[in-house]
Amino acid sequence: SNFVVGLTGGIGSGKTTVANLFAELGITLVDADIVSREVVAKDSEGLAKIVEHFGETILLDNGELNRAALRQRIFSNTADREWLNALLHPLIRAEMLSQLEKADSPYAILVVPLLFENGLDSLVNCTLVVDISPELQTKRTIERDAVSAEQVQNIINSQASRAEKLSKADDVIDNQGTISALKGKVAVLHNKYLTLAGRTR
Ligand code: ATP
Repeated sequence: SNFVVGLTGGIGSGKTTVANLFAELGITLVDADIVSREVVAKDSEGLAKIVEHFGETILLDNGELNRAALRQRIFSNTADREWLNALLHPLIRAEMLSQLEKADSPYAILVVPLLFENGLDSLVNCTLVVDISPELQTKRTIERDAVSAEQVQNIINSQASRAEKLSKADDVIDNQGTISALKGKVAVLHNKYLTLAGRTR
């Protein structure tokens, strides 16, 4: 089956937690964050293009991409930032599609933090939004990372609003309860997706 569920949600909402519960049920995950690192990995076509554009100084001594240096270069230069986005977006999209095609589970899950913001919902059959309040997003993110409430708020503000994500979602999973409650909700959705993908158990 090539049925694909797009999984998204704001910072700290629980995307990774939910995705791992689907993985425990045997579902293949394709993770946008991992793919975006793979397309610029050592010896990749993407990294070769970056070196061609920015020069060898964009590399670390071990030949890997110097992310801090790249961030610095595109921070102050709009043309370079646009050049990089034009390079990376098609590479990331193609690699996601390639991994989804290879998926051998009854359906697959594409995990993308900015699924709606980057128009990647066009690649999936249906969307699942992990939903929690902004207060809980802030609390859980601060507990996980060494960041301030203000830093979390800035990231929340840069992402699509809770209302916008909810209005675009085919399914919503409320993650304000316990992990045990979450497992039950994932099991229900799993059965729904098996049916939608044309394979009931
Ligand atoms: P990001 O986009 O910021 O990477 P995410 O959406 O992938 O985040 P997770 O990392 O899965 O979110 O969850 C954020 C934090 O909240 C983690 O530390 C996770 O262990 C915790 N968490 C997730 N769900 C629950 C829950 N139901 N109860 C308590 N803690 C939870």
